[in-house]
Amino acid sequence: MGRDADVVVVGAGPVGTALALDLVRRGRSVRLLEARTTRPPGSRAIGVHPAGLAVLDGLGVADELLAAGRRVRRGRAWGAAGPVGELDLAALPPPYRFVLTVPQPVTEGVLRAALANAAPEALELGARVAGLAQDPDGVTVVGRSGDGAERCWRAAVVVGCDGRDGAVREALRVGRRGGAYPDRFAMADLPEGPELADDEALIALARAGVVEGFPLPGGVRRWVVRVGRDDDVPPEGAPPAGGHGLAGWVAERVARRTGLRPQPELVGGASAFGVERWLADRFAVGRVALAGDAAHVLSPIGGQGMNLGWLDAAALAAAVDAAWEGSEPTGPRIAAALDAVGRQRRRAARRAIARAAGNTALGRPVGPAAAAVRDALLARYLRRPWDASALARFTMGGLA
Ligand SMILES: Cc1cc2nc3c(=O)[nH]c(=O)nc-3n(C[C@H](O)[C@H](O)[C@H](O)COP(=O)(O)OP(=O)(O)OC[C@H]3O[C@@H](n4cnc5c(N)ncnc54)[C@H](O)[C@@H]3O)c2cc1C
Repeated sequence: MGRDADVVVVGAGPVGTALALDLVRRGRSVRLLEARTTRPPGSRAIGVHPAGLAVLDGLGVADELLAAGRRVRRGRAWGAAGPVGELDLAALPPPYRFVLTVPQPVTEGVLRAALANAAPEALELGARVAGLAQDPDGVTVVGRSGDGAERCWRAAVVVGCDGRDGAVREALRVGRRGGAYPDRFAMADLPEGPELADDEALIALARAGVVEGFPLPGGVRRWVVRVGRDDDVPPEGAPPAGGHGLAGWVAERVARRTGLRPQPELVGGASAFGVERWLADRFAVGRVALAGDAAHVLSPIGGQGMNLGWLDAAALAAAVDAAWEGSEPTGPRIAAALDAVGRQRRRAARRAIARAAGNTALGRPVGPAAAAVRDALLARYLRRPWDASALARFTMGGLA
């Protein structure tokens, strides 16, 4: 049976698209299969960290994203009783002495355009993968193409970048551990006010629950607030006539918990969301690997799934490239390469999940005594704003 590509990548989210682009730039033929024909509305990821920027720079797209985003150079930490410290991101090692904020659809658009430029035929939209079968010579991926017809694709290597409930992990019969956190959050993109400098992010550990504020391109600040157990959050969508809906609710909670007064006017997305953690039991089986949310899901409150996924993609692309060196790789050579990368990336994901879990727990509501202890501990932890381990903890350091 002929081969459609050296590598089939399933899922054209930020991770699958970055992986496909990397492999193409290394000379591999790639088919990137994406079930959707249009992008979903809303923005999830905004934070692009130095390690993620380094991966994107290797793909030739960092400059375009840098031009589209905002640079956060300082993280202000407030406790229940006011400021407790800060992180000086300008003390990060060069070249990226900041965290870039840019809406996920923009990031995905830049990656897709670069892939279309490098390999116009690589992306197949409307291609939904349902299963796969491995044999000594390769992998057959089965599913449906955009017109609904049954289809199969043949490749030497397959990578599942198909997100949280990916079909590839299911097809491999690889289990996962994890579940939902008890926390819920609401976020809204509101006009930026004068209270914080335009390169500052705020993390306020209020007694009623954390409030986070990140500058976004276009004079916007994204506010994220933890929803309390008794809070009645308005539905997403257009606000009722004369009311401010979810944006107003978020603005009111920010004001109540921090004293800052963002305008309750929606200038971007607003949504409420729960948070989860998942870790696949294995990241590779034979000629098939998993990357991104298909392999691991972290709490976005202090965890950065897209950046972690790009680090997976970079490691996988390098391993696949090395397996091809000299001659067409055998099945055992590919399996050994993917297994080694999978083990290394799984260790990194465990560390990232643990960090994200700690940061999520830090933002939970507490009583006055616990708040005082938390403020004191945080002030101690942040006493040196340039401290390398604190900077690494909040900027995805040490996870490559
Ligand atoms: C509120 C929120 C805020 C976040 N903020 C950040 C942040 O600031 N920084 C950060 O790094 N991360 C953040 N994240 C996490 C980030 O959004 C995800 O980790 C990231 O989208 C994962 O990318 P991915 O490519 O692995 O998966 P996805 O983005 O889920 O993409 C998977 C793709 O696979 C496709 N697909 C699924 N099944 C199939 C199939 N059977 N066949 C073909 N295609 C299929 C889907 O249509 C989709 O396009 C946030 C998440 C949330 C919810």
